[in-house]
Amino acid sequence: MTTVISKQRTQDESSHSPFVQSIHTLSHRAGDLPPGWRPVLHGALVALRAIDCPARAHIRLTSPRIADLSLDVGSTAPDASIDGILRRVRVRTACTCERCGRSGTLRHMDRKIQVMCAECAAPRLLQHWIRTFMQQMTDTVESNAPVTYRYDQLPFQLRPMIPAHAWSMTGGTCKGAPDASVSLFEMLVYQRRFEAVGDALECMITAADLE
Ligand SMILES: [Zn+2]
Repeated sequence: MTTVISKQRTQDESSHSPFVQSIHTLSHRAGDLPPGWRPVLHGALVALRAIDCPARAHIRLTSPRIADLSLDVGSTAPDASIDGILRRVRVRTACTCERCGRSGTLRHMDRKIQVMCAECAAPRLLQHWIRTFMQQMTDTVESNAPVTYRYDQLPFQLRPMIPAHAWSMTGGTCKGAPDASVSLFEMLVYQRRFEAVGDALECMITAADLE
């Protein structure tokens, strides 16, 4: 009996048109996409199934191309309805946080450009700047070359982590920002503080990615 059912199912699947088969393939690949973009693709697949008809049976949808900026799905033949659905996927993913699905914008994340909301971007950006700052501290020791940051040069995410007394005030303001500077050499005494915050951010980001 089991064999009969299995055979029946195989025959049903093989009888699907190329169009429906390619919708199934896209559905199976949705798990490989950034989690925030999966609902966008899922909605598009529902819409595509709804317009399945003999005239579209020969059209195949191509594998999703995950660009930094949006999700791109193509098709093997022009069709106004299919093209409209696929265009909406590109437009919607271009402004949807790829981590959580909330509204997002393009952001420079480390060496990549990604679509993220402020809540997902903030810990990742701070982590990036902490790593960069700590590496520069190490380089300062190795090269014995003093490096200072002016207030307006330091990434704003890092400013709250610098103790008030570590800033050397030079008086006045520069373009509206306090005219103060911080020496990387002197920041070495706070290296543990940066490491601790970096580790906490790592746990937070990893936990969010597992949700
Ligand atoms: Zn987000």
